[in-house]
Amino acid sequence: MNPRAHLIKVREVISETADAVSLVFDIPADLGPRFAYAPGQFLTLQVPSDRTGSVARCYSLSSSPHCDDRMTVTVKRTADGYASNWLCDNVAAGSLLTVLEPAGNFVPPSLQRDLLLCAAGSGITPIMSILKSALTVGRGKVVVLYANRDRRSIIFERQLQDLTRKYPRRLTVHHWLESERGLPTARGIAGWAKPYRRHDVFLCGPAGFATAVQRGLGELRIPDRAIRQEAYRSLTDNPFEHHTPVLAAASPAADSGTARGDTATARVEIDGATHTLPWPRDKKLLDLLLDHGIDAPYVCRESACGTCVCSVKQGRTRMIMNEALIEEELEMGLTLACQTLPESDDVHIAFDQ
Ligand SMILES: Cc1cc2nc3c(=O)[nH]c(=O)nc-3n(C[C@H](O)[C@H](O)[C@H](O)COP(=O)(O)OP(=O)(O)OC[C@H]3O[C@@H](n4cnc5c(N)ncnc54)[C@H](O)[C@@H]3O)c2cc1C
Repeated sequence: MNPRAHLIKVREVISETADAVSLVFDIPADLGPRFAYAPGQFLTLQVPSDRTGSVARCYSLSSSPHCDDRMTVTVKRTADGYASNWLCDNVAAGSLLTVLEPAGNFVPPSLQRDLLLCAAGSGITPIMSILKSALTVGRGKVVVLYANRDRRSIIFERQLQDLTRKYPRRLTVHHWLESERGLPTARGIAGWAKPYRRHDVFLCGPAGFATAVQRGLGELRIPDRAIRQEAYRSLTDNPFEHHTPVLAAASPAADSGTARGDTATARVEIDGATHTLPWPRDKKLLDLLLDHGIDAPYVCRESACGTCVCSVKQGRTRMIMNEALIEEELEMGLTLACQTLPESDDVHIAFDQ
């Protein structure tokens, strides 16, 4: 079993809309430090399946570590989806779920800045955590654009109203209802967002919405690389399944079929230890670590979730794919272990994020 997986009790199930529920967790005191989280992060839940044993699905935390006592995720049914419907139909107060520790980098670097938060549908969950946190501990302005099919599908409508009343000078919530205005358009979003173009932008919603927001903000000269985005998708990998280490006694060349001499050297700092490993040039850093039995953090292994983010302290690397890191983070030397290959002969990596 993944060492980051824990059996957690559901304390309460709250019906949010006709097709969305919040699951409120009871985190045992001894797991408190392992379940400490930042606004915008997610949990990964294991959902049993007769067909495959289990599937893994990520759900963003809708609670705030700054003002909510209990960790909460909010799940919206996906039409014909497997796990979301299973969770909505089967989980009750007292249920036990296997859950991975919080992960993800859809997290504001500062809660003091002005924020422009764009969400559609269930994309409101990490946005809710970020906005409650910013209002509680920050001093900046928070502007929310929230798109939904119709009024009945708005998740957290009441909470958003209450927060707007409590912070009238700092919070503005703008609903875009498809039933009244049609699908969100780039032009409509650009017109609305113009006064907020210097805010830090966070975006979470389906592809069509994300494209409209990116185009709209593009008209305001906000480049895609400045927009932090969380893309919802189902995992194809199952991080709850055991990754069998390919033990280090085997030569690195034999490990991967790479010719001898075609390896770099990785020096990796993780969990207070430093490992020096031969790194075949065609092996991704995360695979290298797992093969050596090193417990590196990961969830999606597809560059989307940001869980395996680490810093390149020395040497050069490249990523095969990157959906999680923005320009500023790449400039700081961050990389995603699940996609990283060595470029130089010696590379020093630290899991320090
Ligand atoms: C970082 C992140 C955060 C997210 N946060 C949220 C959130 O806050 N709220 C939210 O609602 N969603 C969130 N999501 C999306 C969520 O993880 C799921 O993608 C979504 O709930 C749809 O999953 P689903 O299984 O219902 O649907 P699908 O993945 O579409 O279900 C169909 C899939 O399940 C397989 N399947 C069907 N039947 C079975 C079976 N019996 N056994 C095994 N497999 C089967 C099919 O082969 C197919 O691949 C997030 C995603 C990410 C990556």
